[in-house]
Amino acid sequence: MTTGCGRCGKKAVYVDPVTKQRFCGEHFSAWFEAGVSAAIEKYRMIEPGDRIAVGLSGGKDSTVLLTVLAKLDLEAELIPITVDEGIGGYRDDTILAATRLCDKLGLADKLVSFTDICGKTLDELLANDPRQACSVCGTLRRRALNQAAREVGATKIATGHCLDDEAQSVLMNYLRGDLTRVTGSFQTNADTLFLPRIKPLCRSTERETVAYGLVNRLLTDLPECPYTKYALRAGVRKGLGKLEYKNPGTMMNIVTGQEKLLAKLGPRGGEITMMGRCELCGEPTSHRLCAACALLERRA
Ligand code: SF4
Repeated sequence: MTTGCGRCGKKAVYVDPVTKQRFCGEHFSAWFEAGVSAAIEKYRMIEPGDRIAVGLSGGKDSTVLLTVLAKLDLEAELIPITVDEGIGGYRDDTILAATRLCDKLGLADKLVSFTDICGKTLDELLANDPRQACSVCGTLRRRALNQAAREVGATKIATGHCLDDEAQSVLMNYLRGDLTRVTGSFQTNADTLFLPRIKPLCRSTERETVAYGLVNRLLTDLPECPYTKYALRAGVRKGLGKLEYKNPGTMMNIVTGQEKLLAKLGPRGGEITMMGRCELCGEPTSHRLCAACALLERRA
């Protein structure tokens, strides 16, 4: 059995666990970029003239996302946006990594913080009860990103969610018994009142994403968020990772199975409609207050 790249015979650095294809660094990068490009095309994520706000945390997924988008010939403008949640001992390093990447790519990074949008850091909001850390963080990050994207005149928001995140989200919706989300769209947003969200890495696994980052020397050692231990996602991620290792292709099956379910339900299956506006901030919501304002009221 050859151990070289299946395309050029050079030393292989990556083996695809599903197809067993072997790649040298150069051909792996080209294969990965072609996969991202195919996902963008399949889901019609980007049109010429789009202004894409790219959520850039400085971590591996968003670093690879911005790098690949900048490399593809997209005829769209990229506007990186970094959200500083205010997490001591973690965020400063990742913000520095985000700034360095933008400098390298010749892009101007817009920085927005939780303090800007609600007057408090995530650490302050969680001081008495850190258990819901990721839910608080995610809700406010979505608000911050939406607000900043609108301010810069973006037409869409791109996030670095990869296939692993998508598969985890499908399972988590079942674990929470959240029928609205199980039957709702998870690939792109179903609500036209918000800026459309796109996930160009949605068909690339985390393993491939990390490999791309390593092959192209994009990644640096960064600290882990201190709230990771409170995330339901952490357990799902571990369990799903083991399943994927034993049965390569499991995550893709989960995601494509979910797509088939949504296709059967039709275009309006489980769609979440937001008819009103938040009394406090004016964001679209189906309740008196939007998720971010309701959360801030509870934690005031
Ligand atoms: Fe936010 Fe949770 Fe991610 Fe930390 S682990 S950055 S709290 S979502």
